[in-house]
This record gives sequence, C-alpha cells and structure tokens, in this order.
Amino acid sequence: MTDVNIALLEAKLDQIAPSSAIERLRRRVVEADDAQLFRMNPYTFAEEEGIAPQQAVEVFLRASMAGLLRPDWALVCRGCGEYAQTLQNLCELGGTFHCAACSMTRTTALDEHVEVGFTVHPEVRSIRFLEPAELPLDDYFFRYTFSPNIVVRGVGESLVDYLRERALVLVRLAPGEEHAVETDVGVGWIVGSPRAMITVAGEPTPDRERRTVEVGFDGTQFLPRPTIVPGPVRLVVRNASDAVQPVLLYHTPIVTYFDYRPFLSGQGLLNTEEFRRHLGTEVVRPGTGIPTRDNTLLFTDLRGSTALYDRVGDALAFELVSAHLEALARVITRHAGVVVKTIGDAVMASFSRPVDAARAALAMAAAIHSSDRAEALILKIGIHRGPCLVVNVRDHVDYFGQTVNIAARVQNAAGGKQICMTAAVFEDLEVKNVFAGLGEVSSEQLSLRGVGEPWRVYRYTTP
Ligand SMILES: [Zn+2]
Repeated sequence: MTDVNIALLEAKLDQIAPSSAIERLRRRVVEADDAQLFRMNPYTFAEEEGIAPQQAVEVFLRASMAGLLRPDWALVCRGCGEYAQTLQNLCELGGTFHCAACSMTRTTALDEHVEVGFTVHPEVRSIRFLEPAELPLDDYFFRYTFSPNIVVRGVGESLVDYLRERALVLVRLAPGEEHAVETDVGVGWIVGSPRAMITVAGEPTPDRERRTVEVGFDGTQFLPRPTIVPGPVRLVVRNASDAVQPVLLYHTPIVTYFDYRPFLSGQGLLNTEEFRRHLGTEVVRPGTGIPTRDNTLLFTDLRGSTALYDRVGDALAFELVSAHLEALARVITRHAGVVVKTIGDAVMASFSRPVDAARAALAMAAAIHSSDRAEALILKIGIHRGPCLVVNVRDHVDYFGQTVNIAARVQNAAGGKQICMTAAVFEDLEVKNVFAGLGEVSSEQLSLRGVGEPWRVYRYTTP
C-alpha cells in the first residue's frame, strides 16, 4: 500500500494545465514504487513514458511550481560517483564542494556536477527515501548514495549494478561493531563507501592460506590502506567511530572511468525557459560565480537601427523593434534556449547545445527577414561556446567571462543577414550538419577587439 494524499494530489494537479504527460505523472505518483518517485530524471521519465524530453522537463517544472514535486540540486562527484551534497535551491550552491568519499574539494561545474532530480512532495506522498538512516542498505547505496546516471566505461553497465555485483561487504555497523567476510580476491582493489583502499597485487599465496585483513573506520575513512596478494582472505571491518555507519566495500579489477546517461544538469535547467519564467526567483547567491564548462551564447543586433528610427520615426521603429524582440524570444524558446537579457535592440541568449543555437540563428533570420518589414530590420548574429561563470546580476541569472566577451565580439564581426560562429561552434559535427547543403560558409582569421590573438570565424550569409 502506498501512502498517497489523493485529495491533495488532485488539488495540486488542478493547478496544472491537463496533458497526457501530466496524466502519466499522476499515475506514477499513485501507483509507482517509492524508488521511482525519488530524484526522478526527467529524461528517463520521457523515455519510459514515450514523450519528448523537453516536455518531461516542462511538466516536472510545472509540477514543482504546484508543489507536487520538489527539485533537488544534487552534486555528483565525478571521482567516485557518489552524491557529495544535495541542495534544495540554486542559491545554496557554492563555487566548490567537498566529497567526503574522495576526501577532495572540487570546483563545481553546473553542467558536469549538478544533477537536477525531482522527488514527490512529502505532503502528497511520503516515501521511504526521506529517512535515509532507515533505508535498507540496497536502497541506501544503490539508489540514495550513488548516482544512477553513471555507466562504467568499457563495461557498459550502470555503476550501481557494477557495485551491487561486486559488493564484498554491505552492512550497517553500530559504534564499536565489527563484521567479517571470507572471500577470494583477484588482482585489483577493494574500495568503497566510506573511503577505503586495499590494493590486491603480486603473485597469489602459494599455500592458498587464508590471511586476515583488518581495517577500522575512524569517522572519515577506513585505515590502514594495506597491499595484499591475491587469494583467500578474511576481511574484518570495524566501526571505530561513535556513529552508526553504513558500509559498502567492493572489489574491482579495473580503475573505473565514467560515462553519463542523459540527465538534467544545473546548466540545462537554467537554459530552460519554463524555469526562468516561473522559478527564476531562484538565483545564484550574490557574489558567487558558479562555473559551467560548456555553454553556448548567441548575440543578435540590428543593422542600422539608428537610420531606421530616422526613417520611420520613433513610434513605428519602437513597434518594429519590440515585435522583433518578441519574435526572437519565441524562436529561442522553441530551440531549447533562454533569453538572458536584451540590451537595446540586441538580444543575448544561452543554450546548452551549440546545435540548438545554430538552428535558432537560422530560424531567427528566416522569421525576421521574411516578414513584410524585411527591408526595415536586418539581423546580425554571433555564436560562441565555452566555459563561463553563472552569476547573479540584480536578481537575474547572467553569464560572465571571456566566452561572453568573445560571443559579443563575434556578433560585432557579422554583417547584415550574417551568422558568425567561432570554430568551437561550427566545427561541432551537429552544427556542421545543420549548415551542410545550405550554401557557402566562409572562414577567416579575425582579430577581435580586446581578445588577444586572432580567432577563426565562420561566416554564413542567410538568403
Ligand atoms: Zn568522490
């Protein structure tokens, strides 16, 4: 039996425009196992329910605004795969985070470390994951502690399945308690959570005699960190701390490298119009810059807008320019981007993927230049991608850094009806495919004002 507050669920659903995706979410909240309602990945939901990923993100955000779901910002450590920290709000996010399992402080990157997951609101349905200390160990480690979105490179298996199959110790130890297992280990390492390191190397014991290895948890890690030879072993783990400690130790013959299943990153969320419009009050803490490794920025401007004001007068020019800004905003949203800000007649937009920015640029040109005012408004567009800082400017999410400066300079290099892109954008395979067959894309080395050495810029003139 699940513990669902049906009346509250229905009341919250009434606040959201009905759709088939909402109906699917409703069914899941009523029927699914607790695990399926904990840190839901909207992309996985989309795949399971046969809907578009962007639609799932929007539905989850609307459900969050109605108080049916609760978004979590979970910081995943790319060294060990554990969630180092879970936050309720963007403003709690700092420029660095600490992973206790790796005993390392890492620089937060919004696109790499921040996984946004959605959990059913406890008032609507109480799930067992709200009390991690009470969780069965399988849930605790394989659903709560480690990210389910990681695949072990070269093995093709999810990290949690990999750990589950190779677990040697899976136990909750009271203070002072010890636990022993007898096993036979090959070359590799015995590691786990909390931090532990037993190296298995060298020739196996000739007599196959079982040796005993003892390690103790001191409140942060298991010590010592011995090297043993392969063969039969009696492994004794002791909790020398004064708190109950769940322990997972596993044997791995390889050093694991990670690949990631599609997940909604912090960057992806900030590049979602639905988030900026409705949960945009969630901003970065003033004075904090959160890095994102690879963000695509697009700038537009109008050619000769001063002449336009002269020619048609302020009132009509204002009307034309406003309509053009609205048209551009619609195109940007449709291509999975957001308007960061408008600066006079110019727009700054942000995208998670360069291909979306490229498609948006072409659609902008088509929308503006094909209108009956085609001769009045001529767009100049520039696109660049790279690392930048996400910052708070007057309680709005904004972007800062050299990538932003270069994107603006590249826009300056564009003539009327032109799209200029840096090599980082145009040499992306998906972007190249978008322009394939559209006509000539020329390239040149350009000195961009205030940016040091010349940059390769690709230039396409729209019809
Ligand atoms: Zn770690």
